[in-house]
Amino acid sequence: MEISQPLLELEWIPRPRLTALRRLEIETVEDLLTHYPRRYEDRHQFPEFPREESEVPICLCGEVVNTQLRRFGGWKKIFEATLQEPGGNALSQPLVCRWFNLHYVQKMIATGQRLVVFGKPRLRGKRLCMEHPEFEVIETDDEISIHFRRITPIYPATEGVSQRLLRSIIYRLLNELPDEPVETRAPARLVTGDRRHALQMIHFPENWQKLQAAREHLVLSEFFGLQMRIASRRAESVGRVGGVHCASGQLQKRFLDALPFELTSAQSKVISEIKADLAAKHPMNRLLQGDVGSGKTVVAIASILLAVEAGFQAALMAPTQILAEQHYAVLRQWLEPLGVRLSLRTAARQEDNSPLPLFANAEVKVPGSAGCQPAVSGSLPETSSGVDEPQYHRRRLPHFERPWAKYMITFTTRGRRQLSEKSRDIVLESLLRWKDRRYDLFAACVMPDHVHLLIEPMIEHTIDSGDLVFFSISKILHSIKSYTANRINKVEKSNDPVWETESFDRVIRSESDLHEKFLYITRNPWEAGVAAATEDYPWVWHSGVDVNAKDAASVTPDFAAGCREGQAGSLPSPSRNDEAQVIVGTHALLYESVTFSNLGLVVIDEQHKFGVAQRARLTAREPAPDVLVMTATPIPRTLTMTVYGDLDVSIIDEMPRNRGRIVTAVRDGSKLGEVLSFLRKELEAGRQAYVIYPLIEESDKLDVKAAAAEFDQWKERLHPLRCELLHGRIPPAEKQATMERFRKGEAKVLVSTTVIEVGVDVPNATLMLIENAERFGLAQLHQLRGRIGRGEHKSYCVLLTSDNSQETAAKLAILEKTINGFEIAEADWDLRGPGDLLGTAQSGLPALKIGSLKTDVELMRRARAAATLIFDKDPGLEWPENQRFRPLIVEEQGRTFSNVS
Ligand code: ADP
Ligand code: MG
Repeated sequence: MEISQPLLELEWIPRPRLTALRRLEIETVEDLLTHYPRRYEDRHQFPEFPREESEVPICLCGEVVNTQLRRFGGWKKIFEATLQEPGGNALSQPLVCRWFNLHYVQKMIATGQRLVVFGKPRLRGKRLCMEHPEFEVIETDDEISIHFRRITPIYPATEGVSQRLLRSIIYRLLNELPDEPVETRAPARLVTGDRRHALQMIHFPENWQKLQAAREHLVLSEFFGLQMRIASRRAESVGRVGGVHCASGQLQKRFLDALPFELTSAQSKVISEIKADLAAKHPMNRLLQGDVGSGKTVVAIASILLAVEAGFQAALMAPTQILAEQHYAVLRQWLEPLGVRLSLRTAARQEDNSPLPLFANAEVKVPGSAGCQPAVSGSLPETSSGVDEPQYHRRRLPHFERPWAKYMITFTTRGRRQLSEKSRDIVLESLLRWKDRRYDLFAACVMPDHVHLLIEPMIEHTIDSGDLVFFSISKILHSIKSYTANRINKVEKSNDPVWETESFDRVIRSESDLHEKFLYITRNPWEAGVAAATEDYPWVWHSGVDVNAKDAASVTPDFAAGCREGQAGSLPSPSRNDEAQVIVGTHALLYESVTFSNLGLVVIDEQHKFGVAQRARLTAREPAPDVLVMTATPIPRTLTMTVYGDLDVSIIDEMPRNRGRIVTAVRDGSKLGEVLSFLRKELEAGRQAYVIYPLIEESDKLDVKAAAAEFDQWKERLHPLRCELLHGRIPPAEKQATMERFRKGEAKVLVSTTVIEVGVDVPNATLMLIENAERFGLAQLHQLRGRIGRGEHKSYCVLLTSDNSQETAAKLAILEKTINGFEIAEADWDLRGPGDLLGTAQSGLPALKIGSLKTDVELMRRARAAATLIFDKDPGLEWPENQRFRPLIVEEQGRTFSNVS
């Protein structure tokens, strides 16, 4: 027998059991041998029957002296088995085991049997009871050496395979497994002993020490395999073509000298780590962890200046519009005096030292054209002057248009007129021109004689009643048609109408509908035979991962990349001299390769909002830029070593000294009155406040309604102080203006959803009230709280909740106790487990069979060091003695590794 042998080939294993095992993905001998026990019972000798209750479960053995089936409440049944202590004395009390409504138990237990039970003894009246204990019947004595008089393994419960059976099969497998050692796939300096012995001892340990040693061996091997995979990826990225993006640091010095404060020593340390990376040839891949307010932005600027001085472009990407704007403001303040050229590129706004070439001519009036009106104009163009404007179809039934709805829209040229390539450029530019101003654009395709779009109209304005008015489809189409018609006729030297008046739209009804239309549009030129399969068609645009991740994920990467590259190629690129040296933007920057000509450094703020796939896209460029990702969400060290294992990690573990304290208090919802009067007092003393309410899905219309209602209440409560409302569905420009008024102190209170979660920096805002705090996760609450305590004033965070469950109390109490992000992350982990901590989208957590990311930190560290050492010396894993580790990397790459990057 071999360890890789399928269980199917072993005839002595009962066939029905094989099926049950297969459900657990146990197919081979190895699978079964690595089906590790969940716990152990020391069955050498059992303790005496207790007389009192116990909070700790205990393992007892006794003889069944009586069984009884009792009914209550009609059909409900209790089965009771009374156990007598073997050789017990007159004083010993029997133990009653009870199972409710589990009829199979009663078939398994009979008077006269010996039974091992495991559970918590409880007093019920005068009797000592165990409710629903785990149990095992001692059947015959011939197998006693497997199940008893030893430290006995208890396996994870498996339907269709009993503990006894599992134990017997594994026992026999271990006996029959040949003696030559099962290959140990970890270096000898990491693990002691061989794997064969460790497997033996993990299932049937001779004593507790040997069990411990066996576990250590197996955990180390498992972690080693994981770290080898991470190290191999790292080695691969280190081997990629990068460049030196570092200057001597004159600019950086001028910046640091001008700062009104001293760097913390943590900041200085991190800056020098980054400097070393920038100066090295291989691409930097560094994660900067630092709690909210620890001063990561300064570090980012200092790094950017090194690259800029060396003659490279640097990009700073933020997850939201607001943050990008804020970074832009901060960077301008520091960099413009140094003569650094800066530009802001977000979906909604483009600001530059020079206009973006793409829209440079947008404001130039073409004679006879009304199409170049600013985007806000909704009136129909004059049709009298020269160009024969089509009459646009006005939809009379706006109630067909629903808030937050997505539409697929198609409109065609008049008489199927063919658009020249130049004209198609114009149409695509125009579609992008209004993207994120009037609609979210998911996909667009400009065919020679028609156009498809997939859009979601945005909010145009809010009317007094609080209702939202969306851009109507007719208005959107009107802008596009009129804007393009004139320009097309100009380049085509024609006077004929360009567009048909009619257009077709369809509401998208479901995710799959969306996906289907998305694919339809993005594949249209190829499907319709307008472009050959191998050919590019540059007039297809789609939003890539900007759409819901699940939609984008199902588009094949090649296909998506092809579309995007085509798109990039059709746009003119700026000339070198007046080109921005630092580009600030949202993550959408990723898709505008046109804006970079000489990218040396990319700084990505707030990693948790930035998908792994997006980062991969960046680092796949050649030559690869240096990449610094910054996160304010501390995660426990072991998780960093695995989830971000291929990144170098820098930590800012120190706060600037001038910070005011943050006091956090949990209050019951009924105490709102008291909280309000406190709030008023502070506001009157000149401070500002955030009021946060939970909004689970930014797209949820009910929540938006709720937000508006909430807001009215708050205006009333705090009258006459000025309150403003902020949520994710407010158009970016308006959001920005609101933020600005709050920053300037004109608005005193910001009623907001979690859009202010990350990075917002208003030092005079010292109050935060979080409503329904129980609905937020710990990490998120911590992030939110990080908005206050940024100035020298003492800050207050009040967590309001009406949920008085124990879990909520425990969760919120953690925030009262500490403001240290790492402590909170650890606590969060205890409460929720690592998957939740990271969010499913990018958890990338490995499936571990035995090791615990939480408790085996030290072992992980050792495994990591061992793996790193191997790759440091032998990056291609080519040495003969390292050949045996190759399977570790290949085997599971597809399964565990694809998410970890
Ligand atoms: P975060 O790490 O959350 O991004 P920021 O970079 O936004 O933090 O910094 C928060 C605030 O602290 C900013 O106003 C910044 O100017 C200030 N700051 C940064 N470093 C220091 C320092 N060493 N001493 C004092 N204040 C600092
Ligand atoms: Mg920040």
